[in-house]
Amino acid sequence: MRKLVLLGGGYGNMRILLRLLPNNLPLDTEIILIDRTPFHSMKTEFYALAAGTSSDQEVRVDFPESDRLTIINAEISRIGLEEKRVYLGNGQEVAYDDLVIGLGCEDKYHGVPGAEEFTHSIQTIGNSRKTYNELLGLPSDAIVGIVGAGLSGIELASELRESRGDLQIKLFDRSPRILRDFPERLSNYVKKWFDNHDVEVVSNANITKVEQNKLYNHEEVIPVDAVVWTAGIQTVKVVRDLNLESDGSGRVVINQYHQLPTDENVYVVGDCAGLPMAPSAQLAEEQAEQIVKILKAMWRSEPLPEKMPEIKLKGFLGSLGQKQGFAYLADRTVTGRIARLMKSGVLWMYKWHNG
Ligand SMILES: Cc1cc2nc3c(=O)[nH]c(=O)nc-3n(C[C@H](O)[C@H](O)[C@H](O)COP(=O)(O)OP(=O)(O)OC[C@H]3O[C@@H](n4cnc5c(N)ncnc54)[C@H](O)[C@@H]3O)c2cc1C
Repeated sequence: MRKLVLLGGGYGNMRILLRLLPNNLPLDTEIILIDRTPFHSMKTEFYALAAGTSSDQEVRVDFPESDRLTIINAEISRIGLEEKRVYLGNGQEVAYDDLVIGLGCEDKYHGVPGAEEFTHSIQTIGNSRKTYNELLGLPSDAIVGIVGAGLSGIELASELRESRGDLQIKLFDRSPRILRDFPERLSNYVKKWFDNHDVEVVSNANITKVEQNKLYNHEEVIPVDAVVWTAGIQTVKVVRDLNLESDGSGRVVINQYHQLPTDENVYVVGDCAGLPMAPSAQLAEEQAEQIVKILKAMWRSEPLPEKMPEIKLKGFLGSLGQKQGFAYLADRTVTGRIARLMKSGVLWMYKWHNG
């Protein structure tokens, strides 16, 4: 049997499973999925898990069941590209014919001393649970610092405000205005929400050091009871350890078929893949659609398209608590209740298709 091994059951590989199972897989091919968690974790919702507004069960769905699919629940410790094998933490080795690396990303601390040691994370479901325990266990009036005001920082700050009205929340933004790369209307809307809900946005911030209960913004020392780091990501260590050619942001360089330029049987999907757009679940899924087409053509020994179509993304949707939201779709901004309903709708559809 030919083995297609999927590393990581995230957004990219879930889409590959959805498209290949049950009827699009050649009879001589089986799929093996390896993930450290026994279910698909919906990373886009980890902010709500950490803030205590979504339960653990609400941010995960089961992997599909099929007699063409074997699921291995284990930690991947090394990928052996030479020997076409994947090495697991439990000592097991898994051989592959085709491999899709979809292991996502982890926090990047930019060399800030103490950041890794003294901040909490929402990059994995395990870390989000720990962050939840920390944040929800804080006494009244405790100060929470959130470092990084990108989408995940904004969503976490607003959700935590609704979950814990009694905490002091400080959101540290590197830019002079929040969501600097998007129209000012969006920035103003989000800033106003924070002002109205007593979340302090610290603009032009530069966190230079973190210590136990202390954040250093430039030279200023800010007392904190807990800090969550949402200020940068990098591909996971297992992928960094491959020492493959990477783009400016550390993502693996791939060809137009999403394969390693040096190995047509190894594909990279999602946050690990070097694409010209910012990493997102949406991008991972669109890329997965193309990978499925390539895999099918390769299995049938058909020629590959001379030029792959450009991946087009719809934009993004963000939440400000349970009732308000903001979106940037087809170069238009949408704010308020409608944007929030759209986000909830997308999540509902996702669970419906994948649950
Ligand atoms: C708070 C937050 C909000 C976000 N909101 C949005 C949004 O609104 N829209 C959007 O498009 N994107 C959003 N993103 C980004 C999005 O979640 C990622 O781009 C997306 O998850 C990437 O998908 P992926 O397939 O690359 O991997 P992931 O979905 O990250 O999945 C990787 C999988 O690999 C597994 N894994 C990793 N390492 C190992 C290992 N060593 N051994 C075994 N298993 C391993 C993990 O358990 C996981 O299941 C958000 C991210 C965060 C953190």
